[in-house]
Amino acid sequence: MFNNLDKQIIKKIKEYKTIVIARHIGPDPDAIASQIALRDIIRLNFEDKEVYAVGIGVSKFKFIGTMDKIDNINKEEALLIILDVPEFVRVDGAKRDEYAYTIKIDHHPCSHPECDIDLIDESACSTCQILSQIVFNNEITIDKASAEKLFTGIVSDSDRFLLSYTTPLTFDIASRLLDIYNLDLSKIYDNLYARPLSERKFESFIINNLTITENGFGYIKLTNEDYKKYDVDSNTASNMINDFNHINELKCWAFSSYDEKNKIYRINIRSNGVIINDVAQQYNGGGHKFASGARLTTPEEVDELFKALDKRCEESK
Ligand code: AMP
Repeated sequence: MFNNLDKQIIKKIKEYKTIVIARHIGPDPDAIASQIALRDIIRLNFEDKEVYAVGIGVSKFKFIGTMDKIDNINKEEALLIILDVPEFVRVDGAKRDEYAYTIKIDHHPCSHPECDIDLIDESACSTCQILSQIVFNNEITIDKASAEKLFTGIVSDSDRFLLSYTTPLTFDIASRLLDIYNLDLSKIYDNLYARPLSERKFESFIINNLTITENGFGYIKLTNEDYKKYDVDSNTASNMINDFNHINELKCWAFSSYDEKNKIYRINIRSNGVIINDVAQQYNGGGHKFASGARLTTPEEVDELFKALDKRCEESK
């Protein structure tokens, strides 16, 4: 299992007194849930350790947990664990060279070593699934709160067991978490999926204004006026991109959202079987084969990326 990397990781966790846990910028529930769960599991099992979860907090995901401040730690003697992120350029709040030792646990493709130990399982639906496997395989003690977070990450990243990364192992792990820790499913789903009506109206706006090419590529460029009109923030579209799955006319679809604060265009891309991450990589992006993203600085780059995605759809005919 994991070529014994899980055992090596546990050994390193035992060695270091101070441990910092980071994840990717623009976090999703799997990134935050894996981060908070791992922090709390280490705290539960090793009371003498100082463990911190770092990065910018997201109010929408406060129900999973909140981030820590790390003003007074000696990073040169600390262990850094990065979760759910393939490369350091996308890590929020931690730099590799500042730490004594680095570990990565992730399910995104990555062709080169990034840390001292890289545990990557591309077949896993989520980083929370990998963490759960490590927990079960090594008989690590966890509590109900951490089990709930691990389950939340699995449900969210597999899009409620819909995406192709969902395997028998995913169900097995989810079932064990549910059974052993007696999780409250309706509470978890409410936290993840309850939304204001304004967001549903915004979703209808996207459906009604999506341009669909003859090659099956659907796209929309969302503007600040659109967000204002529907009283939603510029992250909202990112959270609904998966809802456009299983539409017969769409092979691949992408949203562009302008992030006024950071002056970038945030692109979410999904597909029903057309490989897109290599296209995203050419435009300051990346991700999984069928779920990718990119960050661009000009509208021209957005047009170019959308053209390239349309071409990919055409090639796949
Ligand atoms: P999102 O559409 O933001 O949910 O992202 C889908 C997938 O693409 C996630 O696995 C992200 O980690 C990845 N991703 C998003 N944006 C970028 C980017 N700018 N660079 C590399 N990977 C990205």
